[in-house]
Amino acid sequence: MQEVQNKATYYIELENRHGAHNYHPLPVVLTKGEGVYVWDVNGKQYYDFLSAYSAVNQGHCHPRLVKALSEQAARLALTSRAFHNDQLGPYEKYATELFGFDKLLPMNTGAEAVETAIKICRKWGYEKKQIPEDEALIIVCGQNFHGRTVTIISFSSDPDAKGHFGPYTPGFLSIPYGDTDAFRQMLEEHGKRVAGFLVEPIQGEAGVVVPPENFLREAAALCRQHQVLFIADEIQTGIGRSGSLLAVCGDCSCEGRCERGPTYIRPDILILGKALSGGMYPVSAVLADDAIMEVITPGTHGSTYGGNPLACAVAVEALEIIQDEKLPQNARRLGKIFREKMQALVEAFPKLLKGVRGKGLLNALLINDTPESSTAWQLCLALAENGLLAKPTHGNIIRFAPPLTITEEQIIDCCRIIEQTVRTFERP
Ligand SMILES: *Cc1c(COP(=O)(O)O)cnc(C)c1O
Repeated sequence: MQEVQNKATYYIELENRHGAHNYHPLPVVLTKGEGVYVWDVNGKQYYDFLSAYSAVNQGHCHPRLVKALSEQAARLALTSRAFHNDQLGPYEKYATELFGFDKLLPMNTGAEAVETAIKICRKWGYEKKQIPEDEALIIVCGQNFHGRTVTIISFSSDPDAKGHFGPYTPGFLSIPYGDTDAFRQMLEEHGKRVAGFLVEPIQGEAGVVVPPENFLREAAALCRQHQVLFIADEIQTGIGRSGSLLAVCGDCSCEGRCERGPTYIRPDILILGKALSGGMYPVSAVLADDAIMEVITPGTHGSTYGGNPLACAVAVEALEIIQDEKLPQNARRLGKIFREKMQALVEAFPKLLKGVRGKGLLNALLINDTPESSTAWQLCLALAENGLLAKPTHGNIIRFAPPLTITEEQIIDCCRIIEQTVRTFERP
């Protein structure tokens, strides 16, 4: 028994000793995954309710993805964009048709795709909107999370993400998330210099904050009125997570080929990442129509790994799985069941729980305690003990985001685990 427990301790100590301390993980060491399950080095099985921050929407080690990855890896993995490869074109055709844009620009990580979108937006601002050189502005929202580069953290409102990383990149203005009036005012004041509006359709890292009903639609209309690009960061919300192919699809639950559906709010620039590869490999993308994407010409932007054949093969397979297995519809249906059960739990345990919110299978349970308290962390430790992995965000919020392949039976089992844990949980 001693030896079994020491297994986890061994790996944790190695990381502590030799790795930078830029994360504070739960003390669980995972070694295997399959579908909604992961196993630790002691052989204990868990439901994964984080899905690597929504990268693993298709479930762990999906056999089709493993096959696509290994077959392509054995054939050709990287050429650089100095030459063409036979996977990039088919992938670009597939993804642009699926999401309804003229062009795709391939990158690797989410932050890189956001940086790319910012560059395209600024260049468009100078070349198409005729904003005077170096005066372009981009409006963002408070509590945003768009990644970790210096430019991106320059417009973060999180002191941990930002502190002592200056000097910061200028050119960003911020409004409170969901505040249409503030956005209108900002545009009236600065509109001529504003090139874009960068927004998460649901704020994931902030604690699964769903904006007021009409915010995105009104914001998109204001963008049109002021000739400002509406840039949707769907790195976390996209690819089925929120109960439709994209969160900007709204209540449209078709498999994507519906860009003119009544609830669809079309972004000028769409940013994807995370589940675009089903967790196999870093793949991100920026999509836009020609009138915007044509500002990017040879030599103006690039990435050694961007658009490599391995990434392209994996991304096509990942997107096909989403549609073949009707994962957005599953997320929508099971998300409703999950929130109903959590709502009942919130009402039964008002001292510990404050509320539940979210869309599709991107949900959060709000803990009735201060952000500085350890209650959510303790609850996550107890959940892990009972076989379910989740992580607090912003102290007193627990995000619940299982792979979208989860079944009704499994999600009901998970609700039972959460209820049991909450029931036995002694508030410290
Ligand atoms: C995760 C995330 C990013 C950054 O993606 P990385 O791959 O970690 O660089 C950007 N925007 C949103 C909304 C995210 O959730």
